[in-house]
Amino acid sequence: MNREVRVRFAPSPTGALHIGGVRTALYNYLFAKKNGGKFLLRIEDTDQTRFVPGAEEYIKDALSWLNISPDESPWNPGDCGPYRQSERKPMYMDYALDLLEKGHAYYAFDTSEELEAMRERLTAARVVSPQYNSITRTQMKNSLTLPADEVAARLASGEPYVIRVKIPRKEEVRLNDKVRGWVMVHSSTLDDKVLMKSDGMPTYHLANIVDDHLMNITHVIRGEEWLPSAPLHVLLYRYFGWEDTMPEFAHLPLLLKPDGNGKLSKRDAEKHGFPLFPLSWQDPATGQVADGFKEEGYLPDAFLNFLAFLGWNPGDQRELFTLDELVDAFSIERIGKSGTKFDINKAKWYNEQYLRKKPDAELASYLSEGLGSEGLQIPAEKVEKIAGLIKERATFPADLWKEGRFMVIAPTSFDDEVAAKRWNEDAVNVLAGFKDLLNRREAALHASDAKELLNQAADAAGVKLGKVMQAVRLAITGSGAGPDLMEVFEILGKQELIKRIEFALSTLEIKG
Ligand code: GLU
Repeated sequence: MNREVRVRFAPSPTGALHIGGVRTALYNYLFAKKNGGKFLLRIEDTDQTRFVPGAEEYIKDALSWLNISPDESPWNPGDCGPYRQSERKPMYMDYALDLLEKGHAYYAFDTSEELEAMRERLTAARVVSPQYNSITRTQMKNSLTLPADEVAARLASGEPYVIRVKIPRKEEVRLNDKVRGWVMVHSSTLDDKVLMKSDGMPTYHLANIVDDHLMNITHVIRGEEWLPSAPLHVLLYRYFGWEDTMPEFAHLPLLLKPDGNGKLSKRDAEKHGFPLFPLSWQDPATGQVADGFKEEGYLPDAFLNFLAFLGWNPGDQRELFTLDELVDAFSIERIGKSGTKFDINKAKWYNEQYLRKKPDAELASYLSEGLGSEGLQIPAEKVEKIAGLIKERATFPADLWKEGRFMVIAPTSFDDEVAAKRWNEDAVNVLAGFKDLLNRREAALHASDAKELLNQAADAAGVKLGKVMQAVRLAITGSGAGPDLMEVFEILGKQELIKRIEFALSTLEIKG
């Protein structure tokens, strides 16, 4: 029987959603849509000590910014609710008791001091990673070591307890991960993880398995950091008797530092000055604000495209994909095993491509924001033209105004370095001649004949135009680099050019 594909993104609301988490959400979304299935979101908030107010709202906003909203979630529940684990609390105990009855779990009464004493004993005996496991549990206070009546009495008296999974001593646990292939782990390396905590809350492991089962999840796509938990999860599916419907696993490769050495961290982001979060986030505990990709000026479709390529590729040279195209092209088989270097320049490149693809009218609105901020207003047609000219030089929408400002506001000063190098007698002569030609010209100036006029002025001055071109640019724009100068001339028009040339000629001094 073919089941409907159902995948879930299961974040814990412990802070802002990290870029790795957003990638996990995206891959889940793409896989669901590609297979005509459903993308669920489940909030895993069983660890109340790590709960952070606002984190859930943040997850919702981030996904909605990226247009990858879930089909079922706490905000638009389907038939498998509730979608917050804290609201599912009453249902987990029965599952833990079921495992207990089947002999796959047991009560443990050890106090934190006793657990600490065990760890110290094992460390003193040079055990590298002290664990509560098939060997050590025999020396601890649990329902496997204590007489049944004592266990019953402790439970009846309300003594705090946890329920632990009983991991077999010698068994090979195998799972066929869709990204990593066969993964084999010996059960002697696993510990008897707590399934139910003393506060009556399930741990991640129990709640996650029970919920994936009850929500009919068919594929678990999540970060590689969860791979070590997968063998336990496989055992739990077996112990519950749910092997037939156990989801397939796909563990996504790690995101690596820009130099490829180790996991991408907050420190790297701070050091290189790039964001790690989709949206800005104010830590409610410290009040500190971290910038997001959105606020830095990344466009959602560009950011998504960039994210998709952090671990996946279509198998050919294509790099630009809309969300629909990504859905079409996506397959788990094309997710790489090895970690992916995080390269912010690639994110910028994507942003540039998407910005340039936008119609000039839309870009004009970004420019108008800049104009508005300086209380300026110019005809819409001109704004559009400037936007069209400047877009090749913009990475972010705000760059349109930064790079295009000189088109509206004439320079009041000039780049000193360029002036020192390029401003000379020849430049002055060519510009003076060019100004005269402009003055005598009746027709409007077009980019194509602006060059002709400049050439005439250069010929008359006996100067090679190439030699003074940067000085001409400096006079008109104030700087030594910028967009196509003839296009700049056409948009500025004769009168403005004349004004700017006059100002430059009267302000700039020839050095040396
Ligand atoms: N709650 C886990 C997290 O925060 C989910 C891991 C999983 O997908 O199984 O990432």
